[in-house]
Amino acid sequence: MGRVVFIGAGPGSADLITVRGAQRLAHADVVLFDALTDPALRVYAPQAHWIDVGKRGAAPHAAPDAERSTEQDAINACLVEQAEAHAVVVRLKGGDPGVFGRLEEELEALAAAGIECEIVPGITAALAAAADAQRPLTRRGRGRSAALATAMTREGRIEAGRSADTEVYYMAGRRLGALARRLAVAGWLPDAPVLVVSRAGWPDALVSEHRVDTLAQATVLHAGRPTVVTVGAGAARIEAAAKAPRLAASAPKPAMPVPAASAPAGEAVHSL
Ligand code: SAH
Repeated sequence: MGRVVFIGAGPGSADLITVRGAQRLAHADVVLFDALTDPALRVYAPQAHWIDVGKRGAAPHAAPDAERSTEQDAINACLVEQAEAHAVVVRLKGGDPGVFGRLEEELEALAAAGIECEIVPGITAALAAAADAQRPLTRRGRGRSAALATAMTREGRIEAGRSADTEVYYMAGRRLGALARRLAVAGWLPDAPVLVVSRAGWPDALVSEHRVDTLAQATVLHAGRPTVVTVGAGAARIEAAAKAPRLAASAPKPAMPVPAASAPAGEAVHSL
């Protein structure tokens, strides 16, 4: 009987995995990986057998709930089966395994089978998005709390609230219009700042800034890309930074041409 190591791969390029995550991969016999993890991570475990258990590309939320449960049951069963046959099974998940990653179900399945686990944390998309945008999620005085939220209910409805000074919504990229309406109903002012970041942590990350009442206009720009939406204090501009040169981790690329429909006057868009 082996053990399972859950590893957060980070939200983007392979170099955003932690050192511990990379070290554990080097000992893996089998790696069960998700759709949003970078194929370049294979260099850390060339010895392992890699099994794709990804759920429908970049939009795991698109499948109806029942279908997703069946898929999840299959992943749970595969994990148990592999751990019974190998010494070290890695379960590689995008971002952090414990943030909207169905970790609970997988831990339950392994506990029921008496299989030992370890969890290596990863950088979740909200944090990579904040770094790409160079906008801190917490702000002294006015941004004292930040919430990670999903706008998607189990039934596929969009819901939003206002429980923190900054809220970061996962899995809402395809439904930005609905999210904007729910945010307004929850009490966010029409001019509250909103940041939309897609493919955070990747070299082609895209950041655009909006307000609650114009959020729907970001839809076209980020279409087909994993996207998080940050609302409130943590989305607000750093005033002095607007004038200073940007210091990105990689050399900044020229700003993307902005399609008129997706970024109206007064709204900035930049790639990184
Ligand atoms: N465990 C992951 C989240 C999985 S849920 C994490 O901690 O980041 C999948 C959702 O995460 C996507 O629908 C999208 O909202 C978000 N996401 C994942 N990778 C992303 C990325 N690189 N950029 C922006 N959003 C991302």
